Amino acid sequence: MATPAIDGAAVTALWSVMFRNSQAAERAGTQPEMVRVVAVSKTKLVSLIRQVYDAGHQDIDWHFIGHLQSNKVKTLLVPNLAMVEGVDNEKVANVLDRVVSSLGRNPLKVFVQVNTSEEASKSGIDPSGCAAFAEHIKLRCPNLVFSGLMTIGMPDYTSTPENFGTLLNCRLEVCKALGVAEDQCDLSMGMSGDFEQAIEMGSTNVRVGSTIFGPTIMQRSNLTSDFKVLVLVNCIFML
Ligand SMILES: *Cc1c(COP(=O)(O)O)cnc(C)c1O
Repeated sequence: MATPAIDGAAVTALWSVMFRNSQAAERAGTQPEMVRVVAVSKTKLVSLIRQVYDAGHQDIDWHFIGHLQSNKVKTLLVPNLAMVEGVDNEKVANVLDRVVSSLGRNPLKVFVQVNTSEEASKSGIDPSGCAAFAEHIKLRCPNLVFSGLMTIGMPDYTSTPENFGTLLNCRLEVCKALGVAEDQCDLSMGMSGDFEQAIEMGSTNVRVGSTIFGPTIMQRSNLTSDFKVLVLVNCIFML
């Protein structure tokens, strides 16, 4: 239930996360504004999301994060969507590229999702394939902008330093293959339980959900029955 008290708690929690973010950035020897905080709203009520949205001072962008199926791409592309975090195969990239082109909208930024856990998982490209996939996006998907790499970490959504290290290595390989500087490739890693550690290891985009909005009880029926609901619950903004 989103009572005003709970709404207030989410805004307070957001400011606390922003503060911890800036302290971790300082420890990492970087500027706080170099690390984007993506507030992950999942299945939260729109009224609660609105409170946190209204508390933001800076420009706000919407990110879609999570696994994207190619047959759902069209519904997702609301005009102001800035970023898709989680493209992990050529088919989805090609469909996204075609749909963006047909809509005549601005090119869409994408992060490539990497499976850094060495465990069988349904989403995320193998680290050995990330450079070739980033090249595919750059050379064959003119309506997409390769912008970085994203990882969830372990299948239970926790991360180890090894997960973060693997993503750092992927960035080295991708930047070499594309001939771009490392600061042209964001690293999206770190969630509620480990975002400070991720920042200290070089993350430039942390995705924080439950620490801001409270725990999420995922209702499968909400996630699968109607993609419009799926878009809503996965719409992310960054502050
Ligand atoms: C839910 C989710 C998050 C946020 O996780 P918390 O642990 O609640 O901060 C980040 N990334 C992805 C892909 C998610 O699904």
